Amino acid sequence: MASASTPEQVKLDKECELRVEIGPESPLRLRLLTGTAEIFGTEIPPQIWLSFPPSVKFAVFTWYGATIEMDGPTETYYTADETPMVSYVNVHAVLDARRNRAKASPSDTESSQGPRVIVVGPTDSGKSTLSRMLLSWAAKQGWKPTFVDLDIGQGSITIPGCVAATPIEMPIDPVEGIPLEMPLVYFYGHPTPSANADLYKVLVKELSKILERQFAGNTESRAAGMVINTMGWVDGLGYELLLHAIDTFSATVVLVLGQEKLCSMLKDVLKSKPNVDVVKLQKSGGVVSRNAKVRQKARGHRIREYFYGLTNDLSPHSNVASFSDLTVFRVGGGPQAPRSALPIGAEPAADPTRLVQVKIDRDLLHLVLAVSYAKDPNEIISSNVAGFIYVTDVDTQRNKITYLAPSAGELPSRYLIVGSLTWIEN
Ligand code: ADP
Repeated sequence: MASASTPEQVKLDKECELRVEIGPESPLRLRLLTGTAEIFGTEIPPQIWLSFPPSVKFAVFTWYGATIEMDGPTETYYTADETPMVSYVNVHAVLDARRNRAKASPSDTESSQGPRVIVVGPTDSGKSTLSRMLLSWAAKQGWKPTFVDLDIGQGSITIPGCVAATPIEMPIDPVEGIPLEMPLVYFYGHPTPSANADLYKVLVKELSKILERQFAGNTESRAAGMVINTMGWVDGLGYELLLHAIDTFSATVVLVLGQEKLCSMLKDVLKSKPNVDVVKLQKSGGVVSRNAKVRQKARGHRIREYFYGLTNDLSPHSNVASFSDLTVFRVGGGPQAPRSALPIGAEPAADPTRLVQVKIDRDLLHLVLAVSYAKDPNEIISSNVAGFIYVTDVDTQRNKITYLAPSAGELPSRYLIVGSLTWIEN
């Protein structure tokens, strides 16, 4: 436990990192005084104060030595001289060579494809962090790799409950993260895959189809390849979904963080595919474990950030619409009939991708809904979404619904999708 109430300087030797956990109450400022340093793959500028919001956990790593200054209370900070960074940057070097090779043969469909990397491992093994480093290092060298985030629990591209993709054109900002600008987003609507695993697979497939089409027409992004982050479910259904993702995106490099068993299982099932490399990487000792409660809180933060911005810099609008202006759908038809309600021996049969129109009533209160780009209800499952709204009031007397949206004015579509994603604004 340590706290820095007056600015405090920390000297870092080469290949060491300063690990910081900011407390839940106050923000922290940090700057680089001497040397060079990076935060999760993005170099930080000299002398300029960076302001981090509360609760953030991160590391400042230096390849050649640096002095860092911190201003503000921290929950914990310490320096570490043992990190897996050299092995991570070696992976980057291999990927970089493959990108160069892909770029050199733009007309050959097969060899013009850069590496398709998928990062797998249990929760809190540092998957998102490694994905971020690989993307930032690649962007620093001028590549525009595509980031695919399949983590419906704690996504980095948009709010939870979605699968999404976005090109990374610049090293990722250490404070702001990935800009929430126009990513390609499919709304699953639940924070866990077990809610509707078949729908999850369908959406992953849709996302991959669009990316495949984009790659076909863009040799630059094709050569840069992709980095796919996955969720921390690695057993049972989670494992099945990992295999599905590896297959769907035709991954060529599988990076396994921190689990021997998962790595050997994957090596075993993928040995029939000689073009797929399964590589085990060490988990960083700096990765902070988060329990279910912390994770749930982080989901709320993420939704808040969508509407209000990281530092309350956005002003969402409260809008009112008539029930008749909107159509709300649920995919999968809601909870299935319990087995006990069925005749003996019968299986509950609900089509997981059946579209069911939902009556607008107070059950929608505090739910986060996605606004579909679909022009017709038939297209809803295969369409990406424009954004999200948050239902703040439902007046069944006047048939009016009040919702928060990023901006004022009419929604881009009357078709909304609801799942089980709730948020209590505070
Ligand atoms: P996963 O994606 O596997 O769940 P994350 O990459 O999100 O794990 O890491 C969990 C938390 O640990 C995040 O808050 C991240 O910022 C933090 N973290 C990761 N690596 C380090 C490190 N080397 N030092 C300090 N914090 C770290």
